[in-house]
Amino acid sequence: QAKREGRNNFQYYTVQMNATSWQRLKLETELRQALARNEFELHYQPKVDMDCNKIVGMEALLRWQSAERGLVTPAEFIPLLEETGLILPVGEWVLREACKQARAWQDAGIPDVHIAVNLSSLQFRQPDFAGSVLKIMQEHGLDPAMNGIELELTESLLLDNVARTIDTLNTLHEAGIRFSIDDFGTGYSSLSYLKRFPISSLKIDQSFVQDLSSNRDDESIVSAIIALGRSLGLSVIAEGVETAEQSAQLRRMGCDGMQGYLFSRPVPVAEMTYLLQNSANLFPAGA
Ligand code: C2E
Ligand code: MG
Ligand code: MG
Ligand code: MG
Repeated sequence: QAKREGRNNFQYYTVQMNATSWQRLKLETELRQALARNEFELHYQPKVDMDCNKIVGMEALLRWQSAERGLVTPAEFIPLLEETGLILPVGEWVLREACKQARAWQDAGIPDVHIAVNLSSLQFRQPDFAGSVLKIMQEHGLDPAMNGIELELTESLLLDNVARTIDTLNTLHEAGIRFSIDDFGTGYSSLSYLKRFPISSLKIDQSFVQDLSSNRDDESIVSAIIALGRSLGLSVIAEGVETAEQSAQLRRMGCDGMQGYLFSRPVPVAEMTYLLQNSANLFPAGA
C-alpha cells in the first residue's frame, strides 16, 4: 500500500513505524529496569462503608516512580506490561508488597486490614495461580481466612475458560480469599455465571457514577446493579464517587460502600496509615 504510493511515502511510513516501536522499546526497557531498581510502589485508596463512613478496606493501585518520567500511572504502562508478559513478575511484586503491608499494619495494631489487589488476566491464567497466592500469603504469615486479601477481577477475565476459572476461584475462596468484580457493567456480563462464581462484591464502574444525578440511564443501571447484588447476597461498592451529591444519592439507592476522590485519592502508605488511624474523624457519618 505505502510502496505503491511512491518512494517518499514509503520512507515516511517506515520512519513513523520506527519512531513508534522505538518509543515502545524504550518504555519496555525502562519498565524492566524499574522492577530491578524497585521503582514500583503501591498507593492505597480507602473503601468507605455507606452507613458509618468507616474505612472497611482499601485498594492497592500500582504506581511507577520513574527518575526520568516522574510518577507514572497504570494507564501509561499496564498495557505494555501485559503485552510483554512483564505483568507476571510485576503482578507478583504487587501481591508480595500488599501482603508485606498488610503484615506491617497488623503488627502496628491496626485491626481488620483488607487490601484489594487488581489482577490481570494473564496472571490469573498462570498454572497454579491459586497455589502461588496462598504461598505468598503464608510467607508473610498471613492467614487468608483472617487477614483479608481481596482480589479484583474483571468480567472478561471471569468469562474466559469458565470451568478453570471456577476451579481457581474455589480453591482460593475455600482458603478465605474474597473476590470482587471490578468495573462492573462495562464488560460482557453473563449474569447467570455470577451465582456460580464465589464472588463477594460488585464494584460499579465509575462511568455510571459520574452523571448519576443527571442521567436517567445511568441511574437505572446503578439501581439494577444494586438490586442484583442484593438478591445474590453480594455487597455493592460504587467507584469514582467525587461529590457529596453522588454519595447521598448512592446512599438513598442502598449502595453498600463507596470509593472515590470525595473521600480520598489513592495515597502513599504513610498517608494511608494516617487515614486508617483517623477515619472516624475524617469522614463523619452522613457526610
Ligand atoms: P481500577 O481497578 O478500576 O481502579 C480505579 C481507578 O480509578 C484508579 O486509577 C483510581 O485512581 C481511579 N479513581 C479512584 N477514585 C476516583 C474518582 O473519584 N474519580 C476518578 N476520576 N478516578 C478515580 P489508576 O490508579 O490510574 O488505575 C487504573 C487501572 O489500572 C485500575 O483500574 C486497574 O485496572 C489497573 N491497575 C492498577 N493497579 C494495578 C495492578 O497492581 N495490577 C493490575 N493488573 N492492574 C492494575
Ligand atoms: Mg480495581
Ligand atoms: Mg474499577
Ligand atoms: Mg477501571
